[in-house]
Amino acid sequence: MISQSRSVGLAFLRGIPRIPNHRLQLFPMKITTGSVVLFDYTLTDDDKEIIDTSKGGEPLAYIHGEGQIVKGLEKAMEGKQAGDSFKVSVAPEEAYGLHDPENISVVPADQIEGGEELEEGMQLHTEGEFGEQTVIITKIEGNDVTIDGNHPLADMTLHFDVTIREVRDATKEELDHGHVHGEGGHHH
Ligand SMILES: [Zn+2]
Repeated sequence: MISQSRSVGLAFLRGIPRIPNHRLQLFPMKITTGSVVLFDYTLTDDDKEIIDTSKGGEPLAYIHGEGQIVKGLEKAMEGKQAGDSFKVSVAPEEAYGLHDPENISVVPADQIEGGEELEEGMQLHTEGEFGEQTVIITKIEGNDVTIDGNHPLADMTLHFDVTIREVRDATKEELDHGHVHGEGGHHH
């Protein structure tokens, strides 16, 4: 694309200074609000156990400044550019929050769809006042089912190892949809 417009410029726009090609490398785009960012990551816990990684798959894509990734990681991304690698540890307050005992409740098994097949450790999806929520069954005693609506990563400090692959402006359509299109994002 660039070389094509350059040759057009040379043929038809002689005398008009063209922007040197290397300027694209001298001033790479820095991550700011409205940037689409593609990055590789490995997420580990305090014991260096891997919780999640993009290795062997697509990079993760998000629109910066919209709270699509955990707050502490989004802050660390600000101002970075393609090719940058960094590590950041994010406290639970800026990740998935602290474990809240109020998110634990006991419900009768016969009020849960598929109640006869419940097991401890099973995840359930519920429609709550804040939309869809995932809860985990932590205990079953007779008809009493204890469910925990805290995020599985609540209370945890998250250690991210990140490499930025690409930074570009979000298109108007991506901003309207609230998600990234193409690699690492939605294909539609
Ligand atoms: Zn879309």
